[in-house]
Amino acid sequence: MSFDRIVVVDWSAAGRAVRGGDSLWIAQARGDAVESWNPPTRAEAEAHLRALISAALDAGERVLIGVDFAFGYPAGFAAALTGRAEALAVWEWLAAQVEDDRRNRNNRFEVAARINRALPGLGPLWFHPPGQTWPGLPLKGSERRGHGLAEMRVTDARAKGAQSVWKLGGAGSVGSQVLTGLPVLWRLRAAFAGQVAVWPFEAAQAAPVVVTEVFPSMLRAEIAALSPPRHGKAGRHDWPVRDAVQVRMLALALARLAQEGALGGLFDAADPTAPLAEEGWILGAGAEADLRAAARAVGAAALPPQDTDAPATAPHRLTPPRLRNDCFAMPQGVDWVPVEDALARLRAALVPITDTEDLPTAAAGLRVLATDISARRSNPPQANAAVDGYGFAHAALDGSGPYELPLLQARAAAGQPLKGAVPMGSAVRILTGAILPKGVDSVVLEEDCATDGARVAFDGPVRRGANSRRAGEDVEAGGPALPRGRRLTPADLALLSALGVGRVRVLRPLRVGVLSTGDELLSDPGAQAAPHQIFDANRPMLLEVARRWGHAPVDLGHAPDHAAEIAARLDRGAAEADVILTSGGASAGDEDHVSRLLRERAQLSSWRIALKPGRPLALALWPGDGGQRVPVIGLPGNPVAALVCTLIFGRPALSLLSGAGWLEPQGFQVPAAFSKRKKPGRREFLRARLGADGTAEVFASEGSGRISGLSWAEGLVELPDGAATIAPGDMVRYLPYTSFGLG
Ligand code: AMP
Ligand code: MG
Repeated sequence: MSFDRIVVVDWSAAGRAVRGGDSLWIAQARGDAVESWNPPTRAEAEAHLRALISAALDAGERVLIGVDFAFGYPAGFAAALTGRAEALAVWEWLAAQVEDDRRNRNNRFEVAARINRALPGLGPLWFHPPGQTWPGLPLKGSERRGHGLAEMRVTDARAKGAQSVWKLGGAGSVGSQVLTGLPVLWRLRAAFAGQVAVWPFEAAQAAPVVVTEVFPSMLRAEIAALSPPRHGKAGRHDWPVRDAVQVRMLALALARLAQEGALGGLFDAADPTAPLAEEGWILGAGAEADLRAAARAVGAAALPPQDTDAPATAPHRLTPPRLRNDCFAMPQGVDWVPVEDALARLRAALVPITDTEDLPTAAAGLRVLATDISARRSNPPQANAAVDGYGFAHAALDGSGPYELPLLQARAAAGQPLKGAVPMGSAVRILTGAILPKGVDSVVLEEDCATDGARVAFDGPVRRGANSRRAGEDVEAGGPALPRGRRLTPADLALLSALGVGRVRVLRPLRVGVLSTGDELLSDPGAQAAPHQIFDANRPMLLEVARRWGHAPVDLGHAPDHAAEIAARLDRGAAEADVILTSGGASAGDEDHVSRLLRERAQLSSWRIALKPGRPLALALWPGDGGQRVPVIGLPGNPVAALVCTLIFGRPALSLLSGAGWLEPQGFQVPAAFSKRKKPGRREFLRARLGADGTAEVFASEGSGRISGLSWAEGLVELPDGAATIAPGDMVRYLPYTSFGLG
């Protein structure tokens, strides 16, 4: 097992950018030479590692990367969480759940709580900042029960001083490092797919890049023996920090073993009876003596240069990431929010409007009921005839027929009730909707009768109550008619009217501001456009969508990529709208003023949704004059992505805000008329429509700038987050536009 470079990483779960002790350290040894760096954030460490790997691959060199956090959890965990008894399944799971921004702010406690909730009992993860509440995540280890998992991995029990991976905080804890670190390793492995082997899950023999778990504390005695000199006034400089010495020493020791051809011995020391695929193994556990001997031989060479003024981070050549064909591949250091998570968070974050008004029922279509409605009157109010025919008392019939009854010289019709009663044994002409006269409880259809004007004859048997409707058989007076939160349909207007409900209390319409951003946009499609201009396609689309959903669209126009102008429009939006949809400028590129502005002024949560098309989605709260905070939903600029995100996220969010509650589209399984392979990681929506045979066809191009495909389509095909291979005839989920309330 030989390597040209050895990289050792000391991880940190710090919640803000930090340097020095207890922060991120990276050392790289090449033969006897060693360099070290102290990136302030995990995002920078990730970029740095990526650069180191690229540099090694470009130079045709093999690199071993040792990282100081657990690569797996005690046996049983991976399967319980992901359904697969493999540590790498947990890596993938975490990569999709953990968010960690460029300033080291991350959601690890939320993710930990989510993990615990997915498992039986309470725990196994524990600890959170005291004073906070995380349902499912206990503060103390002793509160845990019933999770059924071991406290330590086999390798932890073997390595002296190793802590349990379940503990997320407190002295020497590693749990948070695992949560924040594994997603980074997962991305690195993906970024150099096929060239990275993660040991012991994958064979380390041939891969150009091998990533393993290490435990620098194995060298604690060797590091202590160096008693590193301190420089400057005590307490002012903590250079060299112990972490720096540690990563440098371990990198040099491993490099020395590599040179001696003895590194393979460390790999061979893994206990083959341990559940390696689930738990992993610390490189060197079981062969500590060899590693420590190498560290002693390294000795003081591990100390950083003795220059107190030197920056903690030595400059290194930047190596750009390799170009990839798939422009949707994950960018560096970026985390992905699964669609379901983003939906759950939106749902939790939004609060409905409450202002109400009274409207005549006939004018209340598409409005949302503010109260439960009960019937003022029964439907039908009186028993009546369901057909045109002849009415009589069932009790007068004897035998099974045929019957002949004398006919009363009178008629009962809808709106023209018969005055007086029908004598027992007589029949009366009766028309649909007529109230059953006294003495009538059954009706026989006129087509089943013969009559000479004085008598009526018909065959039996006849059921009591035949062809008649009972009073209140549909809805009883005083009974429930429609619930609050109901967005009124044409049928609802019929029902309310039938039940004598002439006015309803409804919520005022949700005012939805729509703003387009981008220097390239021109508002008026009838205008003469300069070559660099494109017509604003999103705004007319989104305004129309809002209108069809029953909201009140508010056109906020279009703003160039200029923070002050966007801010002015958002201010207007905050005054005139309840929620603002922006499109464009949400992705954090150079020109993406919307995200920058929202970050600075509006508590931006910017999500990269694991969704195609349409990954950037921003949610922020823009402060209005009256102290109100108006939700801003920042949609992607591409019209295809903008519409998909509006259907998937905007529709339920706006519905909730409008008082009509969360919505989920109704999908249908239909056979595919197409073939497609998709990679795991992102849910995908394809522009689709049903062919004459009921199979789903998809638009020829998936390019998210192809607006013609949006218009061609009559719905979307939804492909799951995981990998999928679709062949013609396979069932896929089809969501017609109509199931999003759009025709
Ligand atoms: P952005 O999200 O601003 O980076 O925009 C992504 C792409 O969508 C760019 O090609 C933009 O020109 C385009 N785009 C942004 N806004 C609109 C719009 N309102 N109408 C049509 N295309 C747009
Ligand atoms: Mg733009």
